[in-house]
Parts: sequence; C-alpha cells; structure tokens
Amino acid sequence: MPVVPISQILDPAFAERYGVAAINIVDDLSLDAVLSAATEFESPLIVQTSLKTVKSIGARPLYSMWRARADEVPVPVSLHLDHCPDREWITTCLRAGWNSVLFDGSALDVAENTRQTVEVVAEAERYGAQVEGEIETVLGVEDDVGSDEAGAVHPVEVSARFIEETGVYSFAPAIGTAHGLYKHAPELKPNRVTELVELHPIPMVLHGGTGLKEEEFLDLISRGCAKVNISTALKIAFVDAHREYLDANPGKHDPPSLLSHVRAAVKTMAEYHIGIFGSAGRARTFSATAG
Ligand SMILES: [Zn+2]
Repeated sequence: MPVVPISQILDPAFAERYGVAAINIVDDLSLDAVLSAATEFESPLIVQTSLKTVKSIGARPLYSMWRARADEVPVPVSLHLDHCPDREWITTCLRAGWNSVLFDGSALDVAENTRQTVEVVAEAERYGAQVEGEIETVLGVEDDVGSDEAGAVHPVEVSARFIEETGVYSFAPAIGTAHGLYKHAPELKPNRVTELVELHPIPMVLHGGTGLKEEEFLDLISRGCAKVNISTALKIAFVDAHREYLDANPGKHDPPSLLSHVRAAVKTMAEYHIGIFGSAGRARTFSATAG
C-alpha cells in the first residue's frame, strides 16, 4: 500500500472528520521516527518537506531516501512540499515524485496567485499530484518562507472563488494560527473553516498547529481541517533531544546513542499528535477498502 496519492489519505479523513498529521521532517532520522510512529498507531501519515530542507539535501537524494523508507511501511503515506513560492522548485519536486505541493502565492495579489495556481494545478495533474492553495500569509517565518507582519485577510468568499477558479485539492485558510511558538494564545477564527467548507467541501489545512490546545485541534478538525501541519514541534523535539543528551553526557562521543535518543524524542512527539487527531487505527480501514 505504502505511498499513495494524498487524496487517498485526505478524502476519508475529510469525510469522517478526523485529522491526519503532516509532519515536516528534516533528515533520514526524523523521517524514520515519524514513519515508525504512524506504523505503531496504524495511522496514515503525510510527510512534508520545507523548501529549505529540499535545497539542503537535494530533491533527488531526498526523494530516494523517502521512497526507500516509505516503501517498507505498512500504512498509507504521502509526500508533500510545504510552502513553496518558487515555481522552479515546484517543478523539480513534482518531477522527482512528490505527491502534493503547496504553491505559496500568498505574497502575490489574489488575481496573479489565481492565475499561477491554475498553471501549477495543471502541471501537477500531469504527474498525478495534487495542489494545496493559499491566499493569505500564515503569520510567522517558517524555514525562511513567510513574514512576521500580519497580512491582509480576505472575506471567505474570496477564498471560495480562488478554490473554484483554481481547482486546488486542498486549501490553507487564514484562521488566526501562526508558524513558530505562540507568545500569547492565538485568537482563532474557526468559523472561517466552517463557512469555507460549506461553500466548497474540500480538505482544509491547519498551519501553525504547534502549541494549540487539544480541544482547539479537535474543534478545527471537526470543521474540516483534515490535514494538520506539524513543523515547529518537530524542530523543538529534534534540537532539544540533542541538547539534553549532550548536556547529560558531556564526555561521551557515541553517535548511535545520541541518535537513538533523538529518534525516540521525535517519535514521541509524532505519537502525541497522531493520538490526538483521531487517525490512529485508520490504516486498517484503508487496507480493507483498498482491497
Ligand atoms: Zn505553514
């Protein structure tokens, strides 16, 4: 079953209102840790890469690493490119085999963003891939993409028109969340998800999930946020686990022990989110329906 189009993971999640974690990995160790968490929870999983990670490892080596591991897991998994404003990199990743891309045209005006997203959707179709759309900047910089300045938020009708005109498979609405760590509790606008889903029933994507309360996740998922992005939580688990191990073992130079400590921390973080979102056990249904 392993690597499937992202729609095969998100269609049932959206229909049955559970969330699937879309976790930004940074290397082979974090990839292995999140796949292993999904396997243990019998959960579908979306693995994401930021453009920064793609650039640092290279699209082809990164894709090969993904395939080598993903082909061995017994749960449905899909590979997504997170916020990418650069059309050339979108093309590079689609060619390499990514299942889904977020063309981030939020810095463009809506008309130009619409025009380019139409092209990206057509291009992705040729590779059997799907496109996530976005018209408002998610507050906060993530892996060099984004802005700390709050951008304009359009009426939901503008988002609805964008979805209709572009044919994007999924959409990232502005709902008051932000990338990075919250300095104070966010003022969420969950109604925007409900209103958009009423106008256009397609999977909504929750960005800036790290730091939300469990009930906030569940409320947004119940309204149609089928894809729940987790990036900052991985970075924290990954970096803090290195620090913890090194602080506790100042005289040791034992990479395998350090790496297994980090892997365990990343896996625990992934299990926490999979556990909340309601996707545990869903891989069983998947295999049943997929025959
Ligand atoms: Zn994001």
